[in-house]
Amino acid sequence: MLEQRIAEVARAEFESAVADLRKVSPHDSLLRFYSRQDERIAAGAATSAVKPACHKNCWYCCYYKVEARAIEVFAIVDFVKRQFTEQELQTALKCASQNVEEVGGLSYKQHMTTNQKCPFLVDGQCSVYPVRPSKCRNFHASDVARCVESYERPTDLTIPNSYVTEIFIASHGGSEAFERAVELSGLDHRMYDLNSAFVEAIENPKCLKRFKDRKKAFLTAKVVQVGEAGAV
Ligand code: SF4
Repeated sequence: MLEQRIAEVARAEFESAVADLRKVSPHDSLLRFYSRQDERIAAGAATSAVKPACHKNCWYCCYYKVEARAIEVFAIVDFVKRQFTEQELQTALKCASQNVEEVGGLSYKQHMTTNQKCPFLVDGQCSVYPVRPSKCRNFHASDVARCVESYERPTDLTIPNSYVTEIFIASHGGSEAFERAVELSGLDHRMYDLNSAFVEAIENPKCLKRFKDRKKAFLTAKVVQVGEAGAV
């Protein structure tokens, strides 16, 4: 039943995403997807008896491992270059570089169970909120106590999530479909560790050219392999 409802959401999103990727730039296609996704998530929350507990200045999940598709990393880079001061950009870059160095020798699981502040978390709020990646956009909880537990005991993977089913269906159906549409368009649809991809994208402008040329966008950023589920 759950799978069936996710598939229904995915079918509708896939058609829209494929049409957008043919008509407008990858960046604009992503922004259109984010707009549809936000509407779906809001509608899911409105129809659910259980409500998300997420609110402004709640940041526990911003210490979990963050991942993003190449198309999403470039949207963040674009946003940061237009909206951040040089000092803010350098602060985010320094934080991301430190995060990359800190987890350099760790396995995926060790990395996943290590708390790290996201480089875009500033004063308890997301500084790239309009273009935060799907992993963050989709993540939600109905019980903050579970988020606090995961934050305080990051190596304890037995702590259950507290998803709102209606939001889970809307967000996962939408994301899966958009990702398939990006793959179909021939663009790099890999999932990358956000810290290392952001650092590489800022330091090497050729990453964006590779992406637009439908090649693997990043050469040194960590790729998340199939089956390695991200926490956020
Ligand atoms: S991108 Fe924004 S929402 Fe996502 S982990 Fe970073 S600060 Fe939090």
